Amino acid sequence: MTIEKLLIANRGEIALRIHRACHEMGIKTVAVHSTADADAMHVRLADEAVCIGPPAAKDSYLNIPAIISAAEISGADAIHPGYGFLSENAQFADIVEAHNLIFVGPKPDHIRIMGDKVEAKRTAGALGLPLVPGSDGAIESVEEAKRVAEEIGYPVLVKAASGGGGRGMKVIPDADSLESLMSQAKSEAKAAFGDDTVYMEKYLGNPRHIEFQIFGDGNGNAIHLGERDCSLQRRHQKVLEEAPSPVISSAVREEMGGIVAKAMADMGYRGAGTIEFLYEDGEFYFIEMNTRLQVEHPVTEMITGVDLVREQIRVAEGKPLSVKQDEIEFKGHAIECRINAEDPESFMPNPGTVTRYHVPGGMHVRVDSGLYQGYKVPPYYDSMIGKLIVYGRTREGCLMRLRRALEEFVIEGMKTTIPLHRKLIDDPQVQDGDYTIKWLEEWLARNSEADKQS
Ligand code: ADP
Repeated sequence: MTIEKLLIANRGEIALRIHRACHEMGIKTVAVHSTADADAMHVRLADEAVCIGPPAAKDSYLNIPAIISAAEISGADAIHPGYGFLSENAQFADIVEAHNLIFVGPKPDHIRIMGDKVEAKRTAGALGLPLVPGSDGAIESVEEAKRVAEEIGYPVLVKAASGGGGRGMKVIPDADSLESLMSQAKSEAKAAFGDDTVYMEKYLGNPRHIEFQIFGDGNGNAIHLGERDCSLQRRHQKVLEEAPSPVISSAVREEMGGIVAKAMADMGYRGAGTIEFLYEDGEFYFIEMNTRLQVEHPVTEMITGVDLVREQIRVAEGKPLSVKQDEIEFKGHAIECRINAEDPESFMPNPGTVTRYHVPGGMHVRVDSGLYQGYKVPPYYDSMIGKLIVYGRTREGCLMRLRRALEEFVIEGMKTTIPLHRKLIDDPQVQDGDYTIKWLEEWLARNSEADKQS
């Protein structure tokens, strides 16, 4: 199978990223967009563009019939879902395949299994991945919750089986608050995800978030492309990511990478995926698997030289993986800063029109963004407007280059998180790689306290 024309069922920087990979491979692209995105960069660059609905995502980027019709009208033979939106919707993947289109992503059943966090944990355990201690599946009653919490010890975390994007989690500090917090967690899960199934995990005190990039060919072969450290988070949302992790040795990478690659090979997994772990006191604990490309995939590309979107497309065409495990070399260090149209202190979204725009350049500097001067950032979607990814031969060199690149970056017309990144990378603890998933929020609280006093 060869893909000649690919429909990009997404928007923003990732739509542009996919378009770029396609054109480098000689594949024509079809952009689908809402009325709010008619002037988007990827819409301008794509070979064809189809408007699929009004601004609200549910009427456009989540509108399956409109997307399938756009594919049929334009004669596309494949659909790439990007991340977010329909990328982890197994039903969408089924529908795409039922229309004889190639879905650039995993087998629908694997999306389904990993999309249900309870099922995902069970599967990961059966595949030999280390799990966070917790309930064996969904928690059905308060009595069961009490029993499990006693067993694993407080504090515990109640998580929504259908949760995602850092939402649908509640920390339960002790037995007294269990009943009320459990019922809150259940009703919140019902309201947010239409499913009140919850499960319980030990709440780890101070872990790092370390995830492995994997790739499978769907026929029992799989490789890993090392880890990314995404511990710098605010409200469980990643802010800055790096590869390799400052705390993972090459021996540990090889061992853990081998375990995840074997698990994916045994599963017969197809395409790109990420296995997320919390890492504390030298132990890995599986938390979830993302069956798609991640926002932070470029840091892996920088240190391995593998174009992950190209690889996704090749695998979707039924080709074998283009690299073998022993051909993958991890070289140097890469850091990604997520740039959001937000107030860097209050984090309130701040979309606007770009009045001035200058991106940093030079050796080993990459900017993935659909911005251009005069572009109006629509207020309807995620506030991420771009990513700055920088490579260095060493972590120290990477940080020096990142500082220089952040200094050069000019986006005027709205507030962005660039000033936050400038400050963040100058912190001695970030420089030392000495942080956990809690660190950034504590740092932000300290800084705002200091600002108040000055
Ligand atoms: P989501 O799908 O919403 O991103 P995850 O299960 O990946 O949910 O968890 C997101 C983040 O929540 C993690 O990166 C971590 O910061 C925190 N978290 C998740 N599980 C635990 C746990 N058992 N203990 C402590 N923190 C956790």
